[in-house]
Amino acid sequence: MHPGINRILINYGEIALKGRNYSRFKSRLINNIRHRLSRAGIDWRVASHHDRVFVEIPEGTPQEVLERALGAASEVPGAVWVTPVTWRATEQLYPDGTTPDCDLIESLVLTEGQAREPGRVDESFAIRVNRADKRFPVRTTELERQLGAAIIAQGKWQRVNLDEPDQAFAVDIYPEGVYVRSERRRGPGGLPVGSSGHVVSLLSGGIDSPVASWLLARRGCSMDFVHFTAHRVSEDSVHDNKVIGLARHLSRYSLRSRLYLVPYVHFDAALMTRPASYELMLFRRFMARIAQRLAHCNDASALVTGDSLGQVASQTLENIATHSSSVSMPVLRPLIGLDKQEIVSLARRIGTYETSIEPYKDCCALISRNPRTRSHHGTLSRIERRVFPDYTGLIDASLADALCVELDSGEIVSVTDTPPVARENGVAE
Ligand code: ATP
Ligand code: MG
Repeated sequence: MHPGINRILINYGEIALKGRNYSRFKSRLINNIRHRLSRAGIDWRVASHHDRVFVEIPEGTPQEVLERALGAASEVPGAVWVTPVTWRATEQLYPDGTTPDCDLIESLVLTEGQAREPGRVDESFAIRVNRADKRFPVRTTELERQLGAAIIAQGKWQRVNLDEPDQAFAVDIYPEGVYVRSERRRGPGGLPVGSSGHVVSLLSGGIDSPVASWLLARRGCSMDFVHFTAHRVSEDSVHDNKVIGLARHLSRYSLRSRLYLVPYVHFDAALMTRPASYELMLFRRFMARIAQRLAHCNDASALVTGDSLGQVASQTLENIATHSSSVSMPVLRPLIGLDKQEIVSLARRIGTYETSIEPYKDCCALISRNPRTRSHHGTLSRIERRVFPDYTGLIDASLADALCVELDSGEIVSVTDTPPVARENGVAE
């Protein structure tokens, strides 16, 4: 990047298809970008022209701050491409009001060429002109040729390859002005968080559930997380807890999220007193019901898990059905049809993979539960009535020991141990 860069351009895809809701989606995206940047200590103007959202970079901004802004913007769901650009307004492009100043465009492209060193002598380049504003009188190919010749004359880039260039220099001529760029970063795409409702995501320490959460954030859901632990988590251990680390990372995308850490000691104690088979499914139904209570407390309308069909014994079709029957809310399973390898590559892209594979001392209790591939709602309900005669009391007691970590944009905002209170009465459990 070079000091001439004065805007970050944010292209969005699907939001543009939203018809009557278009402006609502767009302003949500703008607000989310503003929020994410401001949490990174950056209070720049975020605005839009037609189908383009942009961030204005103040003059003299250090490269390291610009880097931080680009990193933050490229984690905002809804953003498809995040591009540092040099922008000049239409008035500057037409100094006399009618004839465009092609030398201005050329000088911007040359600055871009100057800032980019070819890695090898034979690296190729291409000029891409997009004349979206048809009032611009010079033909696309003509301008591309002129700019290509100027880059070659500059002496750094010598080889043109129009089909598969190593480096593209792009010029977009829009009604509001001209944008010149030579790099762009991929954003998550999808829809802005907050445009698709609120969910509670069951987050384990593994690879799958962080990916499931991210996929829902990318579809525009705001979310809270719940994680079940063998022991009560103390307030002073939050900074070296793996799952808190994962939730923190996910909140770079989901923005404001809560993580509830709920110990399952009461569940274990009941099972110890009255042993039963189907432990694993009983446990999964317990987790779903607590998550549903938290969903009611936080105005969420669905739960999310990292199940993938047939991946482990608890994820057979029958067990998935038995799991869903334990709650009245929909359980969203965005990974249901993905292979492990696909989930792993998404985890790498999101940045959760390395943390997910770290050893986690809390998970052994779960693994030891006897997995059965088949179960029925009726059978499990009968067992539950015997083992947990007061299920609502079990949920209350478990939540009374919960810790709530408030997160925002990748940081911990607060840690509290006040149990969440349901806003509605008579919630089916
Ligand atoms: P993951 O890779 O997400 O850990 P898994 O392969 O270990 O999943 P299971 O243990 O069967 O599979 O869990 C299935 C789903 O149940 C998880 O993806 C997650 O949504 C939820 N889950 C499992 N354990 C916990 C836990 N301790 N706390 C919260 N949710 C959990
Ligand atoms: Mg799994």
